[in-house]
Amino acid sequence: MPSAFVDDAKEIKEENPFESMMQRFDEAAGRLNLDPNIYKILRWPNREITLYIPVMMDDGNYQVFTGYRVQHNFARGPAKGGLRYSPDVSLDEVRALAAWMTWKCAVVNIPFGGAKGGIICDPREMSPIELERLTRRYTAELLDFIGPEKDVPAPDMNTNEQVMAWMMDTYSMHARHTVTAVVTGKPIEIGGSRGRKEATGRGLLFVCNEACKKFGFRINDTRVVIQGAGNVGGTAALLMHQEGYKVIGIADITGSLFNSRGLDVPGLLAYLKEHKTVEGYSEAEHISTADLLELECEILLPAATENQITKQNADRIRCRILAEGANGPTTADADEIVSAKNIFVIPDILANAGGVTVSYFEWVQDRMGFFWNENTVNTRLHEIMVSSFHDVVGFADKYRVNTRLAAYMLAIDRVAYDTRLRGIYA
Ligand code: NAD
Repeated sequence: MPSAFVDDAKEIKEENPFESMMQRFDEAAGRLNLDPNIYKILRWPNREITLYIPVMMDDGNYQVFTGYRVQHNFARGPAKGGLRYSPDVSLDEVRALAAWMTWKCAVVNIPFGGAKGGIICDPREMSPIELERLTRRYTAELLDFIGPEKDVPAPDMNTNEQVMAWMMDTYSMHARHTVTAVVTGKPIEIGGSRGRKEATGRGLLFVCNEACKKFGFRINDTRVVIQGAGNVGGTAALLMHQEGYKVIGIADITGSLFNSRGLDVPGLLAYLKEHKTVEGYSEAEHISTADLLELECEILLPAATENQITKQNADRIRCRILAEGANGPTTADADEIVSAKNIFVIPDILANAGGVTVSYFEWVQDRMGFFWNENTVNTRLHEIMVSSFHDVVGFADKYRVNTRLAAYMLAIDRVAYDTRLRGIYA
């Protein structure tokens, strides 16, 4: 790697999450022989905003919360990315997630850059009114920086449709007219898109179908193991079951279930909805989450949280395809082991991009003021997921690299090309 790369890299501390994300960026940039000047620009976020947000609590006292919005890159369009509420939020984390969004949007070739926001708070300890005040003040502080042409937030950890509705309303009050396209992930009644809730799971189904075609797997004989039964894992499980896949294992935070003949996914999800736990479910064997990840299957689909496949267990996973529903389920150290086992990885920035793709559709529909039916949304999502899958596989073949590196290379190549095309205003 040219020395300019190494010198710049040293300025960022090794242990921070932005650096760990950028390890993969650096490797991809090196393989692409990226122009060192473009490298310098892409390595840093465009803008980082820190806010101190006073909120009147229900007891009449004020509390000041710290919030962030990091806008990583605008080369391909307005920045796009979620807003999370959690006691663990840090600027490093938000910065890493913002960069992730730039690459994710570029992999699926939608006209957005990347951003992410976060507020350090514990939403479980706050009343709905306190959360509303926090959301509205945060939005008001960001009025100059967000907007349909600037930066378009969406829900993330511990934020939801209601939080997006408050953000949209606050922005609109200041604009003196309704601006639906300022956020995505809104309720359908006020400018949300049909198909948005299921989009990430549906996108996973589409890329898994393509991978099965590539390997000549018959859907009915293909065993799937899914970690996570929430928005992503639960939807993917249901859609894959309906498609004819044999979902043999599912885990949530309360436990893991296995049935070699295939689980009754609708029945299990209904049970989970009612009981909020897998405990007591009698139609399957109860196993540990560690064992679940090591079940023999064709497709392993981690859709719970990050760092689940690590140096410790990577050697024991027994799948042919690893479809990453969660963000960052595989550590950088585990990557090498997985690659050596010849497991085909559908990397997170491709596999779970169905959500941001339908967010893009929501933004388009809001700007047109014309709303599509669910079939149109799903057909267009299918088109984008399938072509992106083949773009990544094509890059992997062309450069003889694994699919994770290929996805990063494809994304960086697109952002770098557009940056060069626009020219650098320096
Ligand atoms: P969610 O909260 O709806 O569901 C998470 C699920 O994982 C729950 O079933 C929970 O019980 C389970 N879980 C959590 N920790 C676990 C553990 N240690 N072992 C087993 N199960 C565990 O969240 P979600 O929206 O489905 O998101 C899941 C992942 O997908 C996250 O990494 C998120 O960043 C990523 N993601 C989500 C979307 C989206 O549209 N929701 C889009 C892209 C990426």
